[in-house]
Order: sequence, then C-alpha cells, then structure tokens
Amino acid sequence: MQRSPLMISGILDYAANAHGDREIVSRLLDEPLHRYDYAGLRRRAAKCAQMLKTQGVAPGECVTSLAWNTHRHLELFYAVPGIGAVLHTANPRFSEQQLAYTINHAGSRILMFDKSFAALVERLRPQLSSIDTFIVLSEDASSVNGELNAARYEDLIADQDEEIVWPAFDENAGAFLCYTSGTTGDPKGVLYSHRSVVLHGLAAGLPGAFNFSAFDCVMPCSSLYHATAWGLPFAAAINGCKIVLPCEKMDGASLQELIKNEGVTFSGGVPTIWTMYLDHLARTGETTETLERIIIGGSAVPRAMAETFRDKYGVTVRQIWGMTETSPLGVVATPTPKLAARGEKELNDVIWTRQGRLQFGIELKIVDDDGKALPNDGETSGALLVRGPWTIERYYRAEKSALDADGWFDTGDIATIDSQGFLRITDRSKDVIKSGGEWISSIDIENAAVSHPDIRIAAVVGVKHPKWEERPILVVETHNGAALSDQEVLSHIEPHFAKWWLPDAVIFAEVPLTATGKIDKKKLRDQYRSRLLF
Ligand code: ADP
Repeated sequence: MQRSPLMISGILDYAANAHGDREIVSRLLDEPLHRYDYAGLRRRAAKCAQMLKTQGVAPGECVTSLAWNTHRHLELFYAVPGIGAVLHTANPRFSEQQLAYTINHAGSRILMFDKSFAALVERLRPQLSSIDTFIVLSEDASSVNGELNAARYEDLIADQDEEIVWPAFDENAGAFLCYTSGTTGDPKGVLYSHRSVVLHGLAAGLPGAFNFSAFDCVMPCSSLYHATAWGLPFAAAINGCKIVLPCEKMDGASLQELIKNEGVTFSGGVPTIWTMYLDHLARTGETTETLERIIIGGSAVPRAMAETFRDKYGVTVRQIWGMTETSPLGVVATPTPKLAARGEKELNDVIWTRQGRLQFGIELKIVDDDGKALPNDGETSGALLVRGPWTIERYYRAEKSALDADGWFDTGDIATIDSQGFLRITDRSKDVIKSGGEWISSIDIENAAVSHPDIRIAAVVGVKHPKWEERPILVVETHNGAALSDQEVLSHIEPHFAKWWLPDAVIFAEVPLTATGKIDKKKLRDQYRSRLLF
C-alpha cells in the first residue's frame, strides 16, 4: 500500500476540492461577519504560508498566535503546519507570567495577535525573549502601540500567491503546541503531530462520536487556543461541514444569533457556556431553532443540563471527557443498542451520568496505588491511564517520557469503567481547579498565601459553583490564632494572580492532614462541597 504521510494540509486540500463552496462564517472584533468557503480558506491559507516563508519561518520553528475563534486564526491552523512549522496557540486565560513563560519556552520569533490583546502584548513584551516580529490579525490596528512596530496580517498576505503545493514530510513532525496548566509547576507543552491531528480528526467525526456529515453546520465554542477547539475544525473539514466561528462572544444572546441565522446543527463547549445559553433561552422564551446536538466536556456535565436540553428544546447532549494530552478526545457518551433496548429512561440513566464510552484509538485502564489493573465493573475506582496514537508521549522539550514502561499515560483523574466501556470520573488526583473550563493552580495560590507572616498553613480546594462549575476556596490556619480578615488575605495574594484566580471564600479553620502529613484535600473538598451553592 502507499505510504503517503498523513498531512494536515491534506485535510484542507480535500475540503477545498470536495466541499469547496461549503461556507465558513466568522464573527470578528468590530468587523462585519466574514463569509467565505473552504476554497477561499485554502487560497488565504496559501497566501499566509507564502508570507510566513518570506518571513523566514523554517520547518520545526514555532509561531505563536494569541487569537479568538476567527477565520484568520483558522487560516493559521493550516498555513503554519502546512509549511512544516508549529503553531503555538497561546492561551490568554493563563496569567501573564505563565503566558510569557509558554511563548519563551516555545521559542517563537513571530507573535500574531487579535487587536483586543494589544495591551496585553505590550505588557508582555519586556518578558518575551525570542519574539522579534509582531503581526496584528485584526483589520484595524490603530489601537496597537507603534513601538511594537506591528505589521498588519492583511497587508502582509495581500500580494502573496494563492496557489501552493503543500510539501509532504514526516507525519510525526510537530504541528500544534498547546500548553496545559492542568498540572503542577510551570505550564507544560503538548506537541501534536500531523499524524495525531489527522487521526484524531477522522475519529472525532465518526457516528459513534460526533456523527458529522456534510449536512452539519458546526460552531466550535471551545477556543481555538484550547486543544485546537477539541479538533472540531478538522473533523468538520474532513466531513465538509459548514463552520461558524463565534470570535470571543460566547454569551447566550450572541450564540443564539449565530445559531439562528447560520443554521447551526452542532456545537461544543464547556458547561459554563451552556449554562449561560440555557439562561438566555429561559429569559427570552426563544427556541434552539436548528440546533440538534451539543458535545459538552472539560468538566462534569450536570444531568439537569442534558435533561433540559433534551426535554425542553429537543437537543441531544453528548458528554465527552478528554484532556490537552489526549488531543483532547478520550471518550464520548453515545448510546449502545443494548442500552437503547432497555428504554429511554435506563439509557439516559447511563449516558447522562457517565463521561463517555470507549472510542477506537484510545485505550483506557484503571489501576490501584501499586499500578495493578482494577476490574471494569463500574464500581471499583482507580487512577485512569490512557494510551493511543493521539495521546502524549512526552511534554515539549522534556527529557523524560511522560509514560510508564508499558506506554500508559496517567491522566491525574480517578475513574470507574464498566463492562460496556463507559467511564465515570469520580475524583481527581492532580491538585488543580477547573473554573469555566480553565485551570487554576491551587499550589500557586497556597504559596502566595503562606508568604504572609501570619499564615501557617494555606489550602486551596475547588468546590461546586452554579455558574463556573468549580471555584477555589482558601482555607487558612494562622500562627497562634492570629486575627486576620479575609480581605487582608485576599489583598496579600491579589497582586500575583489574574482576578478570576482569586478564591471565592477565605475560611479560617484548622487544616486537616493525612497520615503522611500532607494536606487532606479530599476531606476539605467533602467538608466544603456545598459552600458556594447557597
Ligand atoms: P479539556 O480541553 O478537555 O478541558 P484540559 O487538558 O484543560 O482539557 O483538561 C482535562 C481535564 O479536565 C481532565 O483530565 C479532567 O480532569 C477534566 N475533564 C475533562 N472533561 C471532563 C468531564 N466530562 N467530566 C469531568 N472532568 C472532565
């Protein structure tokens, strides 16, 4: 058989040839809705690729984007990997220090950004060790500080050739660099390869997963900078779906406008976005129009959310579980004939309470503390390990593999798996908090808190929140019962973090310890579980 490598440019060539006039619609910052099609995307991605070559971008080199879900960002998704370079999709939800760390770690020379990030880029500039070229993606660059000497993307690509023959090279070459702060310490880079992106995109569109066809209109509400918007743009292109890009506007009214006007059939995003969307529908009495299916993941999906979508609006919710390290697709909660035969109630009892079901391309197992495999009985929980062609091998620039001797990656999640391959996340062993789909490091906040002379122990845990799914609370034990107010504690840590990282509550109490003298986070989580719900 032929050995042609799996190339991301092959996805674009296919979509432009087979579905060339299928539309791609993009909202933009202060610009009218932009419309073109896959053939148009290919032409402009080609221009962008030639432009990057004139900038001297070499194979293997990283180029950083700091941008929303727009057609220009999508063009970079093909142009940068298309010439063998790597697109580092910087995450603006990171703290400025983390953001600068990731750009320096990637070693990018070129930073391409939307104008709403101009002030941020300006502040970051003194910390950026390798960037020498700034390019503004937005049409209007008037708000960008002249000292950045930033060029406009549209000017740079204007005279470039719109024809290109994409080079073929090793399918294991890097294509996207996505950093995750869902671990302790500095953010870690996960380098997706052409092979992993293509295989992941093929698998995501399958009927047992997102069930894409050329009749679908897909609106990714997961960010392009977050694990390539869960691979949705690639799965959509492989299947010839219309694509709708919402820019930064993820509020209920803005999404509803696009769903209604563009005929969106499928969308995906974290629970927080869908909470806002359901609120909007309830408030206005509007209906979901064309919307048929939503995939929700990143945090556990409340059963009531799936139920409301189904019963009130006729929309099918499929929960997914995954992580940046798994590209991110791991499991999808799709039905089986056996479950369906038991009737809708029993079917829903399973698929609305599980993260999802085993998919081709990803192996799952749960193990005990000694690494011994545990039974898939739906009851026994253990550390969740994964393995497969779109799962990480090692973090970017890391010397050591991230896998065990048998090639398994420890996800930091605790789960059960049942006999039909349904996975249920029961807890988390990693010490981080997920709020509105993005990570907050408990350790960083604890370190900042204990630097206060009156604080003896500080423990940060995530507890349930009606809008953000999880929010941090800070439990503080003071030296000799020193009297401190929550405001004093918050003012002490505030300068170190983005506002949304600050704990929602400061509790003065004794911090429980485990037998080995570590903070007993499980106990704290249990104790304060409902603290922010009332
Ligand atoms: P993602 O884009 O999938 O959110 P991250 O790497 O930011 O990727 O986060 C992955 C982690 O998020 C998982 O290891 C798990 O802890 C949590 N997570 C993802 N999906 C779910 C889900 N459906 N239910 C519970 N936790 C989830």
